[in-house]
Amino acid sequence: MIEEHLQEMMLQRRQKFMIPASLVATVNVNNSLDHAFLVLTKDRYAKIIVVDNENHYRGQLSLAMITDRLLETERINVNKLNELTVADVMQTDAPVIQEPFDIEENLHLMIDQSFLAVVNQQDQFCGIVTRRELLKTVSYTLHEFGKKYKVISKNK
Ligand code: AMP
Repeated sequence: MIEEHLQEMMLQRRQKFMIPASLVATVNVNNSLDHAFLVLTKDRYAKIIVVDNENHYRGQLSLAMITDRLLETERINVNKLNELTVADVMQTDAPVIQEPFDIEENLHLMIDQSFLAVVNQQDQFCGIVTRRELLKTVSYTLHEFGKKYKVISKNK
């Protein structure tokens, strides 16, 4: 459990936690890999979200996932970019969350993930919580806590 005063301070930044879906680069599950390759290269994100036509969250896609699928024994077969779709190579087992303000869960999952996709109860994509924003929140709390609270050691 996170100490309640620390949690309260962290939640003061709650409006910054989630980048809304409208500002997040996505690709459609039916897009060709050709298109996805361009989006990932141009946007320079390590991984992006995959959605379907109804904005349901479907998975995540990185350049490494694409190049891995293009690899043949001694070369990269770029012709496959037109033959395959995002659905053929995307990752579907990344953790997703429904509650962007559950700091305990976010901290736990973000040890291994640079961002978490947020979905609603209908599985529609709502936005992402990034490790960057979470770290900013932790930094803010560590710096501001002493200005608001006096800590007394239980050992004295
Ligand atoms: P950050 O913590 O800001 O470096 O973001 C971590 C990861 O989240 C990035 O490498 C991207 O994969 C993803 N990401 C962050 N912001 C966006 C965005 N606006 N659109 C799509 N993906 C994003």
